[in-house]
Amino acid sequence: MTRQPLVAGNWKMHGSRAENAALLEALLHGHSPSGAEVLVCAPFVYLLESSRLLKASHILLGAQSVCAEAMGAFTGEVSASMLKDVGCAYVIVGHSERRAIYREDDALVARKFVAAQSQGMTPILCVGETLEERERQQTFAVIGRQLRAVFDVTGIAAFKTAVIAYEPVWAIGTGKNATAEQAQEVHAFIRGELRGAGGTDATIANAVAAGIRILYGGSVKASNAKEIFAMADVDGGLVGGASLKADEFLKICAAA
Ligand code: PEP
Repeated sequence: MTRQPLVAGNWKMHGSRAENAALLEALLHGHSPSGAEVLVCAPFVYLLESSRLLKASHILLGAQSVCAEAMGAFTGEVSASMLKDVGCAYVIVGHSERRAIYREDDALVARKFVAAQSQGMTPILCVGETLEERERQQTFAVIGRQLRAVFDVTGIAAFKTAVIAYEPVWAIGTGKNATAEQAQEVHAFIRGELRGAGGTDATIANAVAAGIRILYGGSVKASNAKEIFAMADVDGGLVGGASLKADEFLKICAAA
């Protein structure tokens, strides 16, 4: 099965109106619509303006998080319908920074996944182990648990319209990326977990496992993207730091 690669930029809490507009202008100028699907996940307050700037382009817009609740007394939160309203097509859920710093657990990540899909947006479900977990040989156990927490709630068919990002926590923002072989090993494991999750729906699970895009994230740069993206089960990247430099990000998109 051929899967269109996806490269998603996670801007995290960076930039200003002027800097973001300049970055988007540079991306629009250099982007080639014929290659990988390209997505930028801007901070909430810049989504509306980003959406206007990206209108009529092939660059898609996403959010970095979403509230699990639909509406109401949740001070400071942003709902899925609001994100949809300003033009988001994708939402990152379960990023390791949300899990570690804001104590978002597997159950909450599953509810955010459902919230995003309830508005027709595609969740990018992040999974990944810490260095300690890797050293204790717990990588597959941790990632299996993070996946099951979602598909036990949603059913495997919900993954037809989802993206998974494998982001080893030890590789995020550290400059120390997983090797292409390490990424491939985990991506193949993830595809296998999805294939095995069907129960009586084995046909659906097989189709989901074959079709879903699994991105690698963790210190992706122009210099390592090509090698990592060349692996059979790697379908592009979720890019943090390097997505803040237009030239670098465009080279990563070209590598996909
Ligand atoms: C991320 O924020 O998801 C990420 C992968 O960051 P970086 O590319 O900077 O490691």
